[in-house]
Amino acid sequence: MQTIDVIIVGGGMVGASLALALARSGMQTALVDQQTLQPGSFSPDDPWQPRVSALTEASVKLLDYLDAWEGIVNQRACPYTHMTVWDGEGTGEVEFDAKTLGYIVENEVIRSALLQQLARSTVRRFDQQTTLEYTLSGQGGEIVLKNGEVLCAPLLVAADGAESRLRQLSGIPANQKDYKHHALVTTVETELFHHHSARQVFLDSGPLAFLPLQSQGERHYCSIVWSLLPAEADRIDALSDDAFCQELERAFEHRAGNLLKVDKRFRYPLRQRHARQYHRQGVVLVGDAAHTIHPLAGQGVNLGFMDMAVLADELIKAAGRGDDYFAPHVLDRYQRRRIGHNALMMAAMTGFQNLFGANDPGIRWIRNTGLTLTNRLPFIKDMIVGQATGLSNDIPEFIQ
Ligand SMILES: Cc1cc2nc3c(=O)[nH]c(=O)nc-3n(C[C@H](O)[C@H](O)[C@H](O)COP(=O)(O)OP(=O)(O)OC[C@H]3O[C@@H](n4cnc5c(N)ncnc54)[C@H](O)[C@@H]3O)c2cc1C
Repeated sequence: MQTIDVIIVGGGMVGASLALALARSGMQTALVDQQTLQPGSFSPDDPWQPRVSALTEASVKLLDYLDAWEGIVNQRACPYTHMTVWDGEGTGEVEFDAKTLGYIVENEVIRSALLQQLARSTVRRFDQQTTLEYTLSGQGGEIVLKNGEVLCAPLLVAADGAESRLRQLSGIPANQKDYKHHALVTTVETELFHHHSARQVFLDSGPLAFLPLQSQGERHYCSIVWSLLPAEADRIDALSDDAFCQELERAFEHRAGNLLKVDKRFRYPLRQRHARQYHRQGVVLVGDAAHTIHPLAGQGVNLGFMDMAVLADELIKAAGRGDDYFAPHVLDRYQRRRIGHNALMMAAMTGFQNLFGANDPGIRWIRNTGLTLTNRLPFIKDMIVGQATGLSNDIPEFIQ
């Protein structure tokens, strides 16, 4: 049996970055994933990976602090400097501009840059461990790996995503709500250049986002997240590529010109989940294991990155003071700093979904007037841009 300071289960973007941050501070860290933890690499002309994230400035700073940002930019990342949101059923429209609002990056590119750094770190990596057994001991626990090795630590971190097995085993309950939307995700080649603008239209059936990707020569691309009622998602998913492109062009009011090519489509049922507590008996939750949120504001992994940064901050500070880093009062501080903020973001997404999903003429008038007014009020726009950077929250000093 090997005793380690912290075992992180789940080497997605959030778990991998937490492992790097803890290893930097000298903590003995193990990272376990059921998939490979070998870094891939992507060159500019490689086919697009279907899942992307809109990274806030705070997330970019965090990735830079972990020395992963250069590896991301060297593969591919698209800055966006404009954001346009409009009501597809009315006249309301709001535009935001900044030097850089954020970056659109494929999730696999982010993960591969993190895994490259991990390969150079002291983190012990155990991958493709599909048959894991856990024994929770009341303070952390043991993990038996597929190859029979046993790892033991006073703190286990659940970074194993939305269906977190570790969360379930630890008995932490989660509030759940079906958004009654399925997201269709794909990449399209567009006739017109996106001018580094992230655009989103709110339709009766749900929001449709066109997120800018790096051009390949004269060829322009956007990643699509199209949230639809399940029956509508069935219908649209069954269309031929040509018919799909025509329907998408219409829904997007031809703002990207003709759609020249569409990649394979992927579909994700959308569910809100929020754990009622973030730790219990030496198991602590981060990222999607703690919360999942509607992708309409592109916040999911940004919240996960801030969870992981705050957790690393609290654990490292406690260890530095000579405290037990796994003690409940230390994990309580992490929970206090994150749970309210994440709950607020979820409430905002539900509010947006209700506001834009409503057919009531009164509510339609309010939202159109609201969008038009917001567009005319620079101080409100500055406030929203400030929020969008992710820098106005309670974030650790090392990424300020
Ligand atoms: C359609 C869509 C669009 C989105 N767009 C955005 C966006 O623009 N911006 C944004 O910030 N967020 C976005 N999100 C959310 C974002 O993708 C997630 O928040 C993010 O991927 C969560 O990262 P994670 O590391 O917490 O979990 P995951 O990415 O789910 O990683 C979990 C890891 O745990 C591993 N694992 C699982 N179970 C086990 C086990 N039992 N044992 C060992 N390993 C295990 C998995 O193999 C995986 O590597 C979007 C989500 C969707 C559905």
